Formats: sequence, structure tokens, C-alpha cells
Amino acid sequence: MHTTFGYFDLIETFPKAGCAVCNLLQRDVTHLLDSILYEYSVDRSMQAGFRASRGLCNQHGWQFTKLGNALSAAVLYEAALDEVLTVMEASGPDERTRQGGWLGGLFGRVQPSALAEALMPKQPCAACAAQDAAEARYVTVIGEQIQDERIREAYRASEGLCLPHFRQTLAHAQDGDSAKLLLALQKDIWSRLRAELNEFMRKSDYQNAGEKMGAEGTSWQRVVARLAGEHGVFGLRRSGR
Ligand SMILES: [Zn+2]
Ligand SMILES: [Zn+2]
Repeated sequence: MHTTFGYFDLIETFPKAGCAVCNLLQRDVTHLLDSILYEYSVDRSMQAGFRASRGLCNQHGWQFTKLGNALSAAVLYEAALDEVLTVMEASGPDERTRQGGWLGGLFGRVQPSALAEALMPKQPCAACAAQDAAEARYVTVIGEQIQDERIREAYRASEGLCLPHFRQTLAHAQDGDSAKLLLALQKDIWSRLRAELNEFMRKSDYQNAGEKMGAEGTSWQRVVARLAGEHGVFGLRRSGR
């Protein structure tokens, strides 16, 4: 049971700041993007994937540019750009249709909406797809093994899961007792966070300006992460909600 994917990763990651699933996904995606750049940039099927997905999504594409392997990034993105140009050329004007006025010349008999459709990604970003699969495995492990002492205690001592990952985990609870336990753990953690927010607001009041701010000083930022997920885990195409 304990050799299940992610079990030890979760035990190790729960004590760190933030949602354990978000943190593991960030680690996994960084490893994946690194391995794409260092091992798979000349791989034919990876290039075909980049063509089909028109490169990576906004969030992972920008992350890709910061990993310090410009040549490999260029190789993969040249394939994606070549695909986009091929689609445009296949449905674009040829010399014979240029006489039909500006619009007729530009599109010939091709519907702009059909071209827009043809340009759409044909498969998801490779990093999003890997992230979705890893996410499903982590929330399943927590949902199914929350009654395991080590997982339970690691969860209890953590800052809790973010709301999107808590919802997903709850949906994977093995039985009623597991669901109740998950709920109790997360409620305790979030009740403490609410108390911190109240303390932060109280001390922020000018009447209490003399009181020194403690750990609650960052509670207003932490609550954003707890409800929306860690920064960059849920992008435009991946709302998780
Ligand atoms: Zn999360
Ligand atoms: Zn992505």
C-alpha cells in the first residue's frame, strides 16, 4: 500500500508551506519541462506533439523560456510555428484568387471561421496533460489513504490543501469515514487561518496601531493561495474548478 505512487512524496511535502498537491505539481512540471528540453527536443513524437498543441500553453510556455536551453526550445517551437504556417498556407489565398478584392484575395473561398478553427490546438499542452494526470493520482492517494496514520498526521500538521485540490480529494474519498476525516482536518486548518485573518484585521485597525504584527501579517496573502491554489498551478486553460 505504501509503495503507491506519491505516498512518500506527499508525506515529505505536507510539512512545507502551501498546498502539498500544488507544490508537487510544480516540482513535477519543472522536471517534465527540463526533460523535454534536455532529452526530447529532437524526438519526432515530441515534435509532433508540439505541432498538434501549437507549442505549450501560456503559463508553461513562459516557464519553458526560463529554463536556460534556448536551442532546444527553438527546435520545438520551430516545429509548432511551421505547423501553424502550414495550416495557414493550406487554407490561404493562392495567386489565382488575388483578384477578388482585398477580402476575396485574403481568404479566397475559405471561411475565416474555418481557418480559425483549423488553427486551434489539436491536443492539450504536454505539460498541462502531464500535470492533470499527476494531479489525479495525488488526490486519489490522499482520498484513499487519509486514514493511514502517516498521511493523516502529515495532513494535520500542514497548511491544508488549496480549495480546488481539497474538492478533488474529497471526491476521491474512499468512504464516508474518510470524507468526514478530510473535512475535519481541513476545517481545523482553515478555522485557524480565519482566526489569523481576524487578528490581522484587528491589528490593522488604527486604534490598535501600537500592537506588533505577528505571523498573521501574511494571512491575507496565504488565504489567496489557499482558495485559488499556489501561484501558477491553475492557468487560463486549467482552472481546476
Ligand atoms: Zn493545491
Ligand atoms: Zn500547459
